Amino acid sequence: TPAKEGKMFIRALFDYDPNEDKAIPCKEAGLAFRKGDILQIMSQDDATWWQAKHEGDANPRAGLIPSKHFQERRFALRRPEVQIQPLKISNRKSYAECAGHNSGSHLAGFRRSFRLSRKDKKTNKSMYECKKSDQYDTADIPTYEEVAKYRRQPNEKYRLVVLVGPVGVGLNELKRKLLISDTQHYGVTVPHTTRARRGQESDGVEYIFISKHLFETDVQNNKFIEYGEYKNNYYGTSLDSVRSVLAKNKVCLLDVQPHTVKHLRTYEFKPFVIFIKPPSLDRLRETRKNAKIISSKDDRGTAKPFTEEDFQEMIKSAQVMESQYGHLFDKVIVNDDLATAYSELKTTFDRLETETFWVPVSWLH
Ligand code: 5GP
Repeated sequence: TPAKEGKMFIRALFDYDPNEDKAIPCKEAGLAFRKGDILQIMSQDDATWWQAKHEGDANPRAGLIPSKHFQERRFALRRPEVQIQPLKISNRKSYAECAGHNSGSHLAGFRRSFRLSRKDKKTNKSMYECKKSDQYDTADIPTYEEVAKYRRQPNEKYRLVVLVGPVGVGLNELKRKLLISDTQHYGVTVPHTTRARRGQESDGVEYIFISKHLFETDVQNNKFIEYGEYKNNYYGTSLDSVRSVLAKNKVCLLDVQPHTVKHLRTYEFKPFVIFIKPPSLDRLRETRKNAKIISSKDDRGTAKPFTEEDFQEMIKSAQVMESQYGHLFDKVIVNDDLATAYSELKTTFDRLETETFWVPVSWLH
């Protein structure tokens, strides 16, 4: 159905340069755009070439962009087996890199008193299985997404904030800093586990302790956002655990593997996805000189100084995430200097609660 002239807005999910496009009837008439740009559709009369403008652009002249259908077909032809990446299976891909990366002292204190350490370790997400998402990867070819303006109403629940980034980038440190900055305002989920309760642990605090049988049933019923197996026990984060944080009128901070994000992109959660990106290799060497990481290869999970290989892996993994899931990121924050990254994060949160954002139209119904 043709768009009402100028009434339809889309978010571009890929980069486009008409000068590189052999199919466009006239390169000069083309409109270049970047992944994430918001475009106003002026005409969809032609099935192959739409006319569009950059949102907010005062220039009344529209340019040609490939139609959704046409671009999907081109993408499908170019990569028939659209990236199915096997999930890397390794234990203990967890984190502890920030020991020397910042003023860790009061944070360490927090960790003890609030028992957050367990959640810090939660980046052990390499074990996740998500059969469904693998299938989706072949099916959806990101081209455009119809969007509309959305502003959170004062009485509305907060949007879910999803943090993604490679192991060692400092995501957990940033998360922890946010949490201690205002424990009334920010919250994290309590994971489920099938292992036995230890010493001082209590149900619903460190974990929600359930039986293997119940865990398996819950998996069958799609109750988990992600789950994994570690030393013969299951661990996982449920959708309900997110709901219970939101129900307390808190901002829920969730870190997951990027492939789970598309399952969370619903009207209910309206997730805002922040990608924490490593700086250049040189800056990594400089800034993480005294920091430690729990390497994915270390089964015992002891923190060791970053190696050159860790840095390279971090950068490589960030590149893969960005190329495969970059279209789902609402904000990219480079964690070069932790204090700077943190203040950028904080500003983003303040804006998120008050300003207007473009979200998929399906979230507004
Ligand atoms: P522990 O049994 O010592 O508390 O934790 C063991 C491992 O379970 C930790 O290394 C941690 O990474 C992992 N873990 C904790 N919570 C979750 C979760 O929600 N999902 C997944 N996949 N792993 C978790």
